[in-house]
Amino acid sequence: MQSYNSFEVAQAQVTAAAKLLNLDRATLDLLLWPQREFTFTLPVRMDNGETRVLHAYRVQHNFARGPAKGGIRFHPDETLDTIRALAGWMTWKTAVANLPLGGSKGGVVCDPRKMSERELERTARAYVRALWPHIGADRDVPAPDVYTNPQTMAWMMDEYETITNRHQPGVMSNKPLALGGSEGRRSATARGGVVVVREACRACGIDPRGDYAIQGFGSNGQRAAILHQEILGGGRLVAASDSSGAVYNPEGMNPIELRNHKLRTGSVNGFSGSEPIDPAEVLELDLAVLYPAALENAVNVGNAERVRARVLCELANGPTTPQADQVLFAKGIHVIPDILANAGGVAASHLEMVQNRSGDYWGEAAVFARLDDTMTRAYHAVHGASRERGIHPRLGAMLVAVARVAQACKLRGWV
Ligand code: NAD
Repeated sequence: MQSYNSFEVAQAQVTAAAKLLNLDRATLDLLLWPQREFTFTLPVRMDNGETRVLHAYRVQHNFARGPAKGGIRFHPDETLDTIRALAGWMTWKTAVANLPLGGSKGGVVCDPRKMSERELERTARAYVRALWPHIGADRDVPAPDVYTNPQTMAWMMDEYETITNRHQPGVMSNKPLALGGSEGRRSATARGGVVVVREACRACGIDPRGDYAIQGFGSNGQRAAILHQEILGGGRLVAASDSSGAVYNPEGMNPIELRNHKLRTGSVNGFSGSEPIDPAEVLELDLAVLYPAALENAVNVGNAERVRARVLCELANGPTTPQADQVLFAKGIHVIPDILANAGGVAASHLEMVQNRSGDYWGEAAVFARLDDTMTRAYHAVHGASRERGIHPRLGAMLVAVARVAQACKLRGWV
């Protein structure tokens, strides 16, 4: 399979949208590149007394619409180009959801699976000690990402507050509830994805109570499986896969029982009443809705022709390759692109920041109502732009996002 430099893919998407918008060269150049990049080293004491020097990054892609916002990954394969691409996609994701935020991303090159809890804590605190003047509720707000979690955010927030000697929970999002996290944050990504599926079914005249499947029955996929029935008022979960296998039942599976089975046994395999199938087949079933919720490049030129879902909701980041995109578009499959489909997570992070700022904390129902409204509006902005121009929804989403960020840059007099 062809491998892609994600930063080049991200830049090509911006260029395509800029062309349709007739943006001038200076605006395009501004949007193609991050506004600020930090590359630094972290000397971290390991439990055996040795000091290891870890390489770290923070890329702040754009601040025109508000403070930058984006996750921090701890991953052995992190590169500056991956972080640049992801930072840019955060700019487009916050803009598509019309949040008053920019985009950023960070990472530390390390393998957390081989590190102790104390080593991870020292890494998290070292990251903040190196970067603290450049982050903050009004500058850049990190969140958890691959191999980081609310506990990582708690250590980072504590380090930041210790250095600045002020209570500032809004410096990080997706914190534990006890430290200023928001109700409803944990399920927000999946909830946002299901809300846009509901809108897509309405807009395209698809019966939402048809069959659906989840590729990647992890935290996001499990929540989407359950919320699909709750929010859409029905639907049959006929297949689900994870890294160890896939299960199928044409009569439908109870998503809560399947989640409990996975929590008990560690995989979807052997779920009562289901039969095992090849995980690749999950992507090729005749479905109303398919949720790719695992890793990048799941739908590629090798299988795109065989995808038969009417709606494909990209809960995962980058599950469809650029070539596969063209195939799905030609087949009339309604793709809900990742920057829209999984924007519910950052939309809820924004609500967490609002609550942190005001000190007024809301119940779950208030968070869900705001999230539903944000995602519904975002879907219709993208759907309208794609329909009007007859373009792929991924380009439609970029068109909406790039236009909003370009307008903010122009109003500021930057270009
Ligand atoms: P997770 O690790 O909990 O779940 C991923 C699941 O995918 C696991 O169950 C794993 O077994 C499965 N998987 C791996 N390879 C597979 C394969 N080849 N076939 C089928 N299943 C496979 O991760 P998550 O938090 O649910 O995130 C999933 C995706 O959603 C990622 O792309 C992530 O970037 C994206 N995302 C998550 C959030 C969030 O808030 N959790 C927000 C935005 C985007």
